[in-house]
Amino acid sequence: MPEGPEIRRAADALADAIVGEALTTVFFAFPKLKRRERALRGRIIESIRPHGKALLTRFDNGWTLYSHNQLYGVWSVVAAGKRPDTARSLRVALETRQRAILLYSASDVDLWRTDRLHEQPFLRRLGPDVLEPALRVGEVAQRLEDPKFSGRSLAALLLDQGFLAGMGNYLRSEVLFEARLAPHRRPRELSRAERRRLASALLAVPQRSYRTRGIEPARGMQASYLTDTPEAFRFRVFDRAGEACEACAEPILRQELAGRRLYWCARCQG
Ligand SMILES: [Zn+2]
Repeated sequence: MPEGPEIRRAADALADAIVGEALTTVFFAFPKLKRRERALRGRIIESIRPHGKALLTRFDNGWTLYSHNQLYGVWSVVAAGKRPDTARSLRVALETRQRAILLYSASDVDLWRTDRLHEQPFLRRLGPDVLEPALRVGEVAQRLEDPKFSGRSLAALLLDQGFLAGMGNYLRSEVLFEARLAPHRRPRELSRAERRRLASALLAVPQRSYRTRGIEPARGMQASYLTDTPEAFRFRVFDRAGEACEACAEPILRQELAGRRLYWCARCQG
């Protein structure tokens, strides 16, 4: 399952293809959206950004396309006028003179007034997106004190999209390692400093992953040549069961917690 950083990079690729240019073609396969096609022609897409696993495509006329890929949906970017040879069914096409972005197979698609988007049933249940640039450490720390969340184990809370959307399984392990907190602890048992540390890690680790994951130093390249490029993101505990912890050399543990595999260092996160 893709997590917040991967979803945001996919959204960036769609945005790069189409944001800022007038739409020449707007196609929706859904009857309830058909009547909106004409009004969107000639409009400009202002932004495409995820909230959790939902994608929000914002037009310059006060409307936003909400789409959720579930397990089937897939977006692709093509040159204007081109349609890939595929058996999948086309659900949305948004095209400028240069490029088109196409959504196949997804069924959870709707148009909302941008100012009423917070009423959308799926979005209403989500916490703020962990990669939302406006989200601050103080707000995350405050959320940790909310009685809705403060009694839960960190292992469960860090997968709960109602706490912070965009979190996922590798991020959970990496955030807890960075914050030096054991997965069975609960926010209400943490000191103020620990809560603050956790809140910082909850923003910093996904940001680092978003900026650098998938960027690997070229083969044979020395790290010293990479001063202008971000350091590649790598897992410090996730998927490293039995390996030595980079901080204390204790073997990293693997445990099933809240139904997913979690990796941690019992000494550093004691
Ligand atoms: Zn350690």
